[in-house]
Amino acid sequence: MASVLTAAERARFGDDPSATIRANLAEVEDRITRACDRAGRARADVRLLPVTKTVPAPVLRHAYAAGLRSFGENKIQEASGKHDALADLAVDWAIIGHLQTNKIKYLTRFAAEFHALGSVKLAEQLNARLEREDRFLDVYVQVNTSGEESKFGLHPDALLPFADQLDRFPRLRPRGLMTLALFTSDMDRVRPCFALLLRLRDAVVRRNAGLAELSMGMSGDYEIAIQEGADVVRVGQAIFGHRPTPDSDYWPGFQPASGAAQ
Ligand SMILES: *Cc1c(COP(=O)(O)O)cnc(C)c1O
Repeated sequence: MASVLTAAERARFGDDPSATIRANLAEVEDRITRACDRAGRARADVRLLPVTKTVPAPVLRHAYAAGLRSFGENKIQEASGKHDALADLAVDWAIIGHLQTNKIKYLTRFAAEFHALGSVKLAEQLNARLEREDRFLDVYVQVNTSGEESKFGLHPDALLPFADQLDRFPRLRPRGLMTLALFTSDMDRVRPCFALLLRLRDAVVRRNAGLAELSMGMSGDYEIAIQEGADVVRVGQAIFGHRPTPDSDYWPGFQPASGAAQ
């Protein structure tokens, strides 16, 4: 299967992508388990959502063989193509990146969950399209907890009014809140973003009981996120190796904060 990979992909995933993924996954699993132990939480309470952007479909077959059953993608067209290429596998697809309204029809066709709901307009249009297709979608409401202009997501003050409106969209199943922490290797500045999402969750569940989960934490900070209450961690590079694409491809206006590892 490695023969269908480009030279650059072989350099990234190794001659035996299956072994690479299994070893990385074992390490991530171990770290999650230890983070849960430290936080006094059960491993079963934290869901690992593997993030597969830039990982080609043939490599994802190895990931599937290693036991992964859900794939998180930032860009809808990339996700849609992989979904079609892997239609024979029983995989749930999660769209975790910003969605333009003109791309809704691609998402509702196959996605099981969406982690970047951030406007009433998007909720309305998703709901209408899902109705036509007689499908439902699990949604996480994205909140901007870092205060960075470039980040998508609701301002924390806008969350409660937004949550009150979600009942109008019966095709959307509220699952929780999602955030991207400040991009920095300084965990003292990352942690408050997660802590803020936790506080917001505790307030919002009184208005909308569905919004109970916290989707937060990536390769660089998932252990902190678990300590702060993450229910879903979205981990890509720690499982699939360093991504060749710059982060600005996914987060427009992305600028690493001072002290960032990038
Ligand atoms: C890419 C991405 C992740 C995972 O980032 P890694 O550094 O690969 O772990 C998490 N969340 C979102 C929204 C992403 O786009």
